[in-house]
Amino acid sequence: MNDNLNRVRKAMDAQGVSAMLVSDIGNLQWLTGFTGSSGLGVVTDSQTVFLTDSRYTLQAQQEVVGFEVITFGSPKTLNMVLAEELSGRQINRIGFEPSCSYTTYEGWRKEAPGVDFEPKPDLLPPLRMIKTSEEIAKIRAACNLADACFDHVLRMIQPGVSEYDIALDIEFFIRRQGAALAFDVIAVSGPNSAKPHGKPSEKKLESGDFLTLDFGARLDGYNSDITRTVVVGQASDRHKMIYNRVLESQMAAIDALKPGANGKEVDLLVRSILDKDNLSQYFGHGLGHGLGRAVHDYGGLSQTKDQPIEPGQVWTVEPGVYIPGFGGVRIEDDIVVTESGCEILTTSPKHLLELGA
Ligand code: ZN
Ligand code: ZN
Repeated sequence: MNDNLNRVRKAMDAQGVSAMLVSDIGNLQWLTGFTGSSGLGVVTDSQTVFLTDSRYTLQAQQEVVGFEVITFGSPKTLNMVLAEELSGRQINRIGFEPSCSYTTYEGWRKEAPGVDFEPKPDLLPPLRMIKTSEEIAKIRAACNLADACFDHVLRMIQPGVSEYDIALDIEFFIRRQGAALAFDVIAVSGPNSAKPHGKPSEKKLESGDFLTLDFGARLDGYNSDITRTVVVGQASDRHKMIYNRVLESQMAAIDALKPGANGKEVDLLVRSILDKDNLSQYFGHGLGHGLGRAVHDYGGLSQTKDQPIEPGQVWTVEPGVYIPGFGGVRIEDDIVVTESGCEILTTSPKHLLELGA
């Protein structure tokens, strides 16, 4: 029983696609259950083929659901076997995911010159965006781990501790729980915190620094992504003004994310709240991104993108204000859209924490 396969077939039917080649490894894993890192899937209304090389033969036989598994070894190549299967099954026209590299595309065309490859960018992504309850449970577990990690790292935060030390403590905690980092930990303080994706350094925390921590755990193939900003020592009025405005905008966005809303409007709402203190000029990125198998999963919340909000979507909500020379604040939670609103999956405290005074 493979629900995702049924959903893909329905989408193929709706878009008039008779055969579809799945090459994006995240999509292939989502579609087949395979957890390895190389393979191709072919879906028609009556056939399903999963191709991978001999490194993964046993694994594919154990993991892949709803597909005929075909494996091969040297001197055959993945593209040769793909071409054989397409011609053996009289498939001369096939949709593909244009997110593949140009070299990959050229490789298919060279091995299978008689086949028409047609880009179908909008077939799988909309399906991936609506998470099943099983997927949401996995994202929730990854979020719980990120929350536990934030709680754990708080004890470290005081003047004299370096950004590296903080980042490594986060990494150690996550990996010690059997998870992987969803991405390289961001731990930036003082003026460094004005770089939204800055790298941790030897810089030591000082009283009066904003410290921004952005990290996530990948657990069982699914990610979390959380950001908290704290003040080292005592917060000034300026710290409080910026922090509280970002927090107000973030909570308003979460309130507004419900079925029927549009990501564009929610992003603009956040900017209008930041502008009560003229701060939207310091908010250069979008409000959030889809989250799931990929940290930056399909979809985005931004002022330039028409994005209907629907139940089952999982989003990050992460407004930020970055003032050059002073520092930055970002507050990021992960949410799942429900029938009536949304549920917040990351629950670490959000009031302004003043630490190590
Ligand atoms: Zn993040
Ligand atoms: Zn994020």
